[in-house]
Amino acid sequence: MYKSIKTKLKLNNKQKTFLAQHAGYSRWVYNWGLSLWNAAYKDGYKPNARKLREVFTNHTKPLYPWMKNLSSKVYQYAFRNLGEAFKRFFQGLGKRPRFKKKGRSDSFTIDNCGKPVELNGWSHKLPFIGWVKTYEPIEATTQKITISRQAGNWYLSLSYEFSATPTPKITDVVGVDLGVKTLATLSTGQAFPSIKPYRTAQDKLAKLQRELSRKVKHSNNWHNSVIKLARQHRRVANIRKDALQKLTTHLAKNHGHVVIEDLNVSGMMANHKLAKSIADQGFYEFRRQLEYKTQWYGSELVVADRFFPSSKTCSNCGHVQDMPLHLRTYDCPECGLSIDRDLNASINLRHAVGLTVNACG
Ligand SMILES: [Zn+2]
Repeated sequence: MYKSIKTKLKLNNKQKTFLAQHAGYSRWVYNWGLSLWNAAYKDGYKPNARKLREVFTNHTKPLYPWMKNLSSKVYQYAFRNLGEAFKRFFQGLGKRPRFKKKGRSDSFTIDNCGKPVELNGWSHKLPFIGWVKTYEPIEATTQKITISRQAGNWYLSLSYEFSATPTPKITDVVGVDLGVKTLATLSTGQAFPSIKPYRTAQDKLAKLQRELSRKVKHSNNWHNSVIKLARQHRRVANIRKDALQKLTTHLAKNHGHVVIEDLNVSGMMANHKLAKSIADQGFYEFRRQLEYKTQWYGSELVVADRFFPSSKTCSNCGHVQDMPLHLRTYDCPECGLSIDRDLNASINLRHAVGLTVNACG
């Protein structure tokens, strides 16, 4: 089974320049090859990518010293791509290859001279390019990588052979309730405290913001404050990222089936207070991470129906009642159950899956 990844790169200006040079090299070679191909065809020859590449390597490349500073893989792949574009055109599968324009199709492909490229975690050593960082962890072994630019951002794409590495599971089925007071409550009784990084760091952010407003714009002090503020924002984002990564890894690694609610996010966003909390806690990100991590660890993500009343139903007898947000405890008038609101919801989510549930789960 093959899977593809495309993910954003975290780069400094020097790296961006280096990548832009490679993309420019790729475009230069592709356009050079295309114009020669067209000219040769007009003169009655039957060009192909391999022949053009030979001409380029032996006669053209030596004339341009700047090419020596860039990976030679770039031009090899540019010719390969040109050949494939013509092949698709001749088979009637694509349009006649056209010249690449700067800013529209900035990309290049490289490989590791036959050796696989290993990507593991947040930092990656790419052949020739060196160390780059990504905004999400990647686990993949691939033969080639493509780097491209879109709207000023750089992306890494690759495909790899995918094999799950299942981990032993503590619990067969776990229901997870995402909350406002608590980040996540598991049907096992385990709770992950709310991160609310913005709220806890809000005082500090507000203080920095006040300091900034008192300073003369573009003065040295003002610049220092801008940097401090940006640093605090980044710190806050990292706390959140870290908490979510830990939670989703724990869920996917230790549970056979992870049952979550299909959050009616647009409905919840109408509630201003809830909306901030949802944004803070990264609920979209939570689901996205679970989707790929359950695949990594051989578990399954189950998304309960959007209209499943997980908060309103008694997890013991099935009685349904209204549960306004301020009620933190579910008190059942039918069977007398009194249970934490979020725990009750998570147990309902666990029951929502028609599976045999481990007695101690
Ligand atoms: Zn009940």
